[in-house]
Amino acid sequence: MAKLSSRITSITSGGSDGWEVFYRARKMVADGEQVTELTIGEHDVRTDNSILDAMHRSALGGHTGYALVPGVHALRDAVAKRIQTRTGAPTTAENILITPGGQSALFAAHMAVCSPGDTALYVDPYYATYPGTIRSASANPVAIPTRARDAFLPSPDEITKASQTHNARSLLINSPNNPTGSVYPRENLEAIAQTCIDTDMWLISDEVYDTQIWEGEHISPRALPGMIDRTLVVGSLSKSHAMTGSRIGWIVGPVDAINCLIDLATSTTYGVPGYIQDASLFALEQGDALEEQIAAPFRRRRALILDVLAEQNTVTAIPSNGAMYTMLDIRATGLSGFDFAQALLSEHKIAVMPGESFGTSAAGHIRVALTVDDAKLSDSVRTICKFAQELSEET
Ligand code: PMP
Repeated sequence: MAKLSSRITSITSGGSDGWEVFYRARKMVADGEQVTELTIGEHDVRTDNSILDAMHRSALGGHTGYALVPGVHALRDAVAKRIQTRTGAPTTAENILITPGGQSALFAAHMAVCSPGDTALYVDPYYATYPGTIRSASANPVAIPTRARDAFLPSPDEITKASQTHNARSLLINSPNNPTGSVYPRENLEAIAQTCIDTDMWLISDEVYDTQIWEGEHISPRALPGMIDRTLVVGSLSKSHAMTGSRIGWIVGPVDAINCLIDLATSTTYGVPGYIQDASLFALEQGDALEEQIAAPFRRRRALILDVLAEQNTVTAIPSNGAMYTMLDIRATGLSGFDFAQALLSEHKIAVMPGESFGTSAAGHIRVALTVDDAKLSDSVRTICKFAQELSEET
């Protein structure tokens, strides 16, 4: 084979990609074994039939040709109105680019603000694709470590230091957070915003879990003073409307940045299918009620997990104030999150994500996705606690 580009061969940094336990569990399922999968952020309900009906109507109505690259106007407008209503920041359709999912929006956002070789900061623990996404944009990913005892909130001082050391162009944050469930409080976001202003960085704010808040409130840093012209917000209907497979998301940003991002979309994705956009517009028009209905099981299950954890004291939870995951501290077992997750899968056929899959800051933790029915989830967490207790007695 002829030589591939260094850009594409270095997207993963080599070594572990963090998905070993997930793929092992999938293989066990394919081989006919019963595995409880608490790994990825996929709802246990499918996209609502009413949304699928809207998609069907649109496709039959002929919306199967090329759609407008920036997104159909009505959807851009609906996203803009939703954002303006929820955050107070002035937003029009011209501030919105519709993208095939939040993931492609993350890539496009880094393409927009980092030149090749520029440093892009991100917070560890992080959603597993972040460093690869930054490298795909030919930028240099630098992680800001956080600590369990600080609820995994990033320290503004450490951000400033890293920004100055690397002359960073951007900082990527994610609240509510995957994998930790942290919801960044206002004071923390204000301090982060100030570091972006002081060190002249863009803030890329991944808000794909904005409808899943269990404690506190969701604050979009784009609405903070001085931030509207240096923030790109990544959004998606994957989590809020159980539309992961529809690949529909957006970027919110200054009009000039969106215009450049439209050029990028024209030369990469060439937009999003019109029938998906029409279904997404229908989904947004259902308002808060549908979003609350989709978030409700996670709210309930997060409380259930806390009840189960209260029965013992080997495993503790990181306060999970949002998103569809709970991070459990299993350091009492003396095992790494990776070894614990592998052993749990072998012994009890329960698959969870090792904390190490999300960076070094979450070592010794596991991430449990709240994506199976309540009884199964409680039983699984009880089994995890018992297993951790047995292991901790051995050490
Ligand atoms: N950001 C975070 C933090 C995520 O967890 C995910 C998906 N798991 C995404 C972005 C991407 O979501 P999508 O591309 O489905 O919109």
